[in-house]
Amino acid sequence: ILKGKVAVVTGSTSGIGLAYVRAFAGAGANIVLNGIGAPADVEKTRTAIENDFGVKAIYSPANMAEPIEIANMISFAERTFGSVDVLVNNAGIQHVSPIEDFPVEKWDAVIAINLSSAFHAIRAVTPGMKQRGWGRILTTASAHSQVASPFKSAYVAAKHGIVGLTRTVALELARSKITCNCISPGYVWTPLVEKQIPNTMKARNMDRDQVINDVLLAAQPTKEFVTVEQVASLALFLCSDDAAQITGANFSIDGGWTAA
Ligand code: NAD
Repeated sequence: ILKGKVAVVTGSTSGIGLAYVRAFAGAGANIVLNGIGAPADVEKTRTAIENDFGVKAIYSPANMAEPIEIANMISFAERTFGSVDVLVNNAGIQHVSPIEDFPVEKWDAVIAINLSSAFHAIRAVTPGMKQRGWGRILTTASAHSQVASPFKSAYVAAKHGIVGLTRTVALELARSKITCNCISPGYVWTPLVEKQIPNTMKARNMDRDQVINDVLLAAQPTKEFVTVEQVASLALFLCSDDAAQITGANFSIDGGWTAA
């Protein structure tokens, strides 16, 4: 469904972003990878996409905290492939701290990478998408776009902000055949989550199942993790023509977290 199209996915060197690019490449899109990673690992990821799916993949090391680097990433993609048809704002970081101790520079970094980067990227892709009369803009928000948790003030503020940005852009581009939506996962099984388990087992004197059910999945009624493939599959659907009338929406994929 994306044959001949070009997808830019920020923060796609690991986790959910990597699953997005593999799903889009599987549907025929050429890919712009972005994110932090050792050059050898990034190159391995890039060539695997080309070999597995027979598409072209390029890498931009743009730092999502830097507006100029974001604009340059989009023009690099347009110069190389001739267009950007799908943009997924996915790069994200977390910082956990009580509000009164929250480091100012961590607040600025979370807002820059999780919220402002989406503004800069959307701003840069919109002229081309309008000109070609087709576009799909997605952002990975979070269950924290709808509900809060203590000690995550910057993350929760940024993810709530993404919903407002998404709705505004959806209205502005509604007549241009460009949709703008967000996907809001609960706890997704990524290496990042997996790595927390042994330490939490030790710190709380719990076994593996207790950590998973009572700590990690405490808020997730299904008591199961979302998989990166499930998130990517929703993203691919939102890129399809069947989803042409879905815009300004925020899709929960959270095992019932935000139903509670
Ligand atoms: P991850 O750490 O595996 O991926 C984050 C990606 O962002 C990586 O590729 C990283 O290199 C990149 N990144 C970080 N800082 C960057 C910067 N300054 N410039 C460019 N790239 C940068 O984590 P993930 O779980 O796959 O997270 C992806 C998105 O999903 C984030 O926006 C996160 O908030 C959101 N999310 C994750 C979960 C979860 O449970 N894992 C749940 C809800 C939402």
